[in-house]
Amino acid sequence: MVLKVVDSSYAIRADFIPKDSVTVKEAIKEIQKFDKEKAYSLIALEPKKEYIDLVKQNIKGEKLSKTDIKLLALAKQLNAILLTDDTDMQSVALRLGIKVKGYRITIEKPKKKRYRCPNCGRFYNKPYCPICGLRLNQ
Ligand SMILES: [Zn+2]
Repeated sequence: MVLKVVDSSYAIRADFIPKDSVTVKEAIKEIQKFDKEKAYSLIALEPKKEYIDLVKQNIKGEKLSKTDIKLLALAKQLNAILLTDDTDMQSVALRLGIKVKGYRITIEKPKKKRYRCPNCGRFYNKPYCPICGLRLNQ
């Protein structure tokens, strides 16, 4: 039996929740607004802090909410498949060695870290803006 950790956008879009799916309580609250039956079919678990810290260490520019981080931590802790269409979540999951499956979209590699120049607002793969001549930290 392989557990699945399902995020709210996947749960809301999917026709049904796969067997052996779990999530976090914040995601259940979100799913409830759209589909009470789906929300009640899910079990909420709480990831351990060490896994939350591990996820945070592996964010390289991806935009994640607190709930996203908890879902990733839970998937890592349970060695589960993460079900989400959020490519930022998928990217961090791949970096952590978590298997991912999207409903509409599934990426195969983590996203490359991108740096934004605070002066001109452009994004680069390297921490340097050739237009402004600045070193970029973020
Ligand atoms: Zn610039």
